[in-house]
Order: sequence, then structure tokens, then C-alpha cells
Amino acid sequence: MIQMFNVSKTYPNGVQALANVNVRIQKGSFVFLVGPSGAGKSTFIKLLFREETPTEGQIIFNGRSLVRMREKEVPQLRRQMGVVFQDFRLLPQKTVYDNVAFAMEVVESPGKMIRYRVPQVLEMVGLEKKANLYPHQLSGGEQQRVSIARAIVNEPALIIADEPTGNLDPQTATDIMDLLLQINRRGTTIIMATHARDIVDALRQRVIAIEGGQIVRDEERGSYKDER
Ligand code: ADP
Ligand code: ADP
Repeated sequence: MIQMFNVSKTYPNGVQALANVNVRIQKGSFVFLVGPSGAGKSTFIKLLFREETPTEGQIIFNGRSLVRMREKEVPQLRRQMGVVFQDFRLLPQKTVYDNVAFAMEVVESPGKMIRYRVPQVLEMVGLEKKANLYPHQLSGGEQQRVSIARAIVNEPALIIADEPTGNLDPQTATDIMDLLLQINRRGTTIIMATHARDIVDALRQRVIAIEGGQIVRDEERGSYKDER
């Protein structure tokens, strides 16, 4: 689903965030992206989302080059991706229902489909009874569930999660991981950047470790730190 060939990214200020990255991520996989602050994880994610373009190399997503892609094709690309952030990024003036529905309105889904699909995903994340509340009326874990519902509502092929448990207590973080694993089991590819050592070590998924802009470790059933 994703291939990066000799990808490097140097920002205009001269900082090299990624250097010669080669990676291949299969459809349906679950990948943890780990590494210290400033390692290049966010840049990696931004390249996938086409928020940034590499200064060198090639990125292929579902057979399409993200490097050669024209600006007007980017919205269509992003429809195939859902993004979950550490700080949720919900719309504070909209209810839970409307936060999720909005993601479908943006891609011009018919009203009938929205009214069918939104309750369905709210049920999946366990928030059907909170549809009419506003984000500030929810706990952190519930807000993250809304943001996951919003990310999956258009049935994307890929979920990109940037520190999704960073603001949550351990039990809530575990619940959110269960939800992400459940989504992954339904066939959605998930790439998750995280500092949550306990979670990475408990789940034993593929771990790609980035340091100084390079992939320093890539293990199929990996751990947070190198165990060799
Ligand atoms: P991580 O997500 O692992 O913390 P980042 O990808 O955010 O790493 O950052 C990698 C390097 O690139 C860091 O040195 C950071 O300061 C730099 N960097 C990130 N974004 C920008 C930017 N927009 N402009 C200049 N330098 C940046
Ligand atoms: P946490 O301890 O996880 O932060 P809260 O104490 O914020 O959780 O919330 C506990 C429960 O009460 C949650 O299910 C939340 O939806 C509900 N809740 C909190 N504040 C409000 C509110 N202002 N209106 C309605 N429900 C609320």
C-alpha cells in the first residue's frame, strides 16, 4: 500500500528531518512508529498525508506517486486516509454527531448516507448515547473516540495516528488501543507514532524505529527499545 524509496526531507531552513528512508507497508498492517523527539516521525506522517513533499525520493500510495501528484488531486488522496491526533482536534461548537457528520459533508456524501452511517460509527466507538453532547462535556477518552469515529466514517484505507494516547490515562489508553486494533482487524491499515512504551511492548506489532531521520530498526513483532 505504501512504498518509500530513498526518501529525504530537508526543510527550507536547512534541517534534514529524514535521510534516505526506504520502507514498504502492506495493506492491513499495524505499524508503530517510535523514536525520540525530533527523530522525524511527524515528518514521515506529513509526507504520507501529502502535507509535505520529499526533497528527494519517491513515495507511492496505492499505486500513485505522492511526489508527482498535482495539488488538485490531494483532496481525493486524503479521502483515503483518516488522521487521529494527540489533542483530538474536535470542533468545539459542534456536537459529537455533527463532528462526525461534518467529515462526511466535506466529501459531499448524500444526507441519507450521513444519517445512516454516523449512528453506525458512533455505536462502534461506544458513543451512541452521547451523540448530542459537545466535546467539552466528554472525558478525554471519549473525545478521542469521537476523533476516531470521525477518522473512520468515510471508510479510509489508512488511519494515521499521531500520539493518540498521549493525553490519556493508562486505562483509557488501553481502551483506545483496543478500538484501533478492532478497526485494524476489519482491514484498515494503521500507522501510529507513539512514545507509549507499555503499549508497544504489550501489542508486539511491527515497529519502525526512526532516529536522526533514518530507520534504525524495523521488526515484525517489535518492542519499543532495541532488545538485542
Ligand atoms: P518527531 O515527530 O519525531 O519529533 P519531526 O518530524 O517533527 O520529528 O522533526 C524532525 C526534525 O525536523 C527536527 O529537527 C525538527 O525540528 C525539524 N522540523 C520539523 N518540522 C519542521 C519545519 N516545518 N521546519 C523546519 N524544521 C522542521
Ligand atoms: P474523566 O474522569 O475520564 O475525565 P469525566 O469526569 O470528565 O471523565 O466524565 C465522566 C462522564 O461524565 C463522562 O462519561 C462524560 O461524558 C460525562 N460528563 C462529563 N461532563 C459532562 C457534562 N458537562 N455534561 C454531560 N456529561 C458530562
